[in-house]
Amino acid sequence: MEVLLVVRGLSNPFSIPFQSLEHMEEKNYDVLVVGTGAGGGAVLWRLCEKWRKNRKSIGVIESGDLLLPTHIYNIPGLRKKWKKYYNEVSNPIGQHLPQFLGAEQVFAVGGRTLFWGAVTPRMHASEFINWPISEQEIDTYYQIAEDIMQIHQASSINSLHLQAILQHLHSKGFHEASPIPSATSHGKTFSSLCFLKNAWEQHPFDFAVKARALQLLMENGKPVGLKVGDHNKKIHVLRAKTIVLAAGSLETPRLLLHSKIPGNTIGHFLTNHSFIKAKGEFISKKVGNISENIRILIPQTDETPYQFQIYINKRLINAVGFGKVESLFDNNLTLDPLSVDEYGIPKIKINFSYSVKDMEIIRQMNEALHQVFNYLGARVVHEKGKAQIHVMEPGEDYHESGTCRIGNDPSQSATNRYGQIHGITGLYVADNSILSSIGASNPTLTTVALAIRIADHISNSYSKERTK
Ligand SMILES: Cc1cc2nc3c(=O)[nH]c(=O)nc-3n(C[C@H](O)[C@H](O)[C@H](O)COP(=O)(O)OP(=O)(O)OC[C@H]3O[C@@H](n4cnc5c(N)ncnc54)[C@H](O)[C@@H]3O)c2cc1C
Repeated sequence: MEVLLVVRGLSNPFSIPFQSLEHMEEKNYDVLVVGTGAGGGAVLWRLCEKWRKNRKSIGVIESGDLLLPTHIYNIPGLRKKWKKYYNEVSNPIGQHLPQFLGAEQVFAVGGRTLFWGAVTPRMHASEFINWPISEQEIDTYYQIAEDIMQIHQASSINSLHLQAILQHLHSKGFHEASPIPSATSHGKTFSSLCFLKNAWEQHPFDFAVKARALQLLMENGKPVGLKVGDHNKKIHVLRAKTIVLAAGSLETPRLLLHSKIPGNTIGHFLTNHSFIKAKGEFISKKVGNISENIRILIPQTDETPYQFQIYINKRLINAVGFGKVESLFDNNLTLDPLSVDEYGIPKIKINFSYSVKDMEIIRQMNEALHQVFNYLGARVVHEKGKAQIHVMEPGEDYHESGTCRIGNDPSQSATNRYGQIHGITGLYVADNSILSSIGASNPTLTTVALAIRIADHISNSYSKERTK
């Protein structure tokens, strides 16, 4: 048996055994979770917490292998080289998707949380107006998510430089500028591996890696299991009463569409953030003595449908802006019958374009970022071959969402308010694809909050069944 090492603080290693698919084929799991990124990790952790005193069986399959034992920033020597390493290991799926050129996937234990920036704001209140869940209801789950992910402010609030810059931005009308909220675990950058560790400590589960979910198996309109491919392309059948798909916003709908799960909106309402980047430097030489890293968030407001993250170190400023993108039915993902993968499963095609409204937000965001630089007394630095503030390709934000969005109306959503595929008991989605909309905020905290809520719903459903 192989052993997975999950390292929390680097001095505190922890192991979870991997199971073979042959072993897992002998069981009928109460819950089978597919994928170990942000959503899969969160749903697993919460189920294990809820079921720590009972014998419910949980299986987890992950298509990738153990790539890193912790978030890349926690590994001495790799922090600065993270982008190079990321490029080597990620799958540049966007190269085959002309309208979503920037998309990349990571198939690994921990998914994309091995590389994420851990920026974790809540979604702006206005987003919840059209959600099937109220802001008050999700608040409870935000609190649980923020607690387990130890969200704190990334820059020291006592820094005089930070205070001065914040005051200045507030006086110029950016009233909500604040230090960036960031997810940690014992002072290190958080990854979904922390969810796996916390889950295992409460309730053991069977865990197979290099195990790729290929197709859902249905009987009488209910899921009964999954076809899973191993690294030798051998097909296994795993059985489960409840299946939670958390394979990401591109893979989860692909699996559902290939399995012919009914639902006219599966794969539709693909949403992301329009994404701009700029580098700058302070004009005044006096500012050169800012020695600490300052990280500021200028969040979305009622009037400004975009968010800025500003990173200041010495005289240099790096800024990124995320703009709200409309959730539109016609921005969608479908199967491409002409192109199949090594298992014979159709690859995906994507139809995606920014609407007139999205383009106007990109224009406003560009203008506002110039203003921020001006107010800070900084100038934008021209980068070789690139416009001063450049607009990134669709997909390059890595925030793609919405392809199985939650909602009350099946003609407008793939899943109900608990992430269950409309009309199919026992089949859930718990990754970025369930987000109804994402406004201008980084999506992962909200996905984790929803995944925790889905786990609570599953565990409550089992309790109700027992008391019948
Ligand atoms: C460089 C970078 C920086 C980012 N920074 C931030 C940030 O600061 N803040 C933020 O909120 N978000 C950020 N993100 C985005 C964030 O990582 C995602 O929002 C989040 O990881 C999505 O979670 P998920 O569960 O939907 O998918 P993922 O984390 O991608 O997990 C999907 C999992 O499913 C597995 N899988 C896929 N297909 C199958 C299959 N068929 N069978 C079995 N397993 C499968 C994958 O291997 C993976 O483990 C960043 C992303 C990147 C790449």
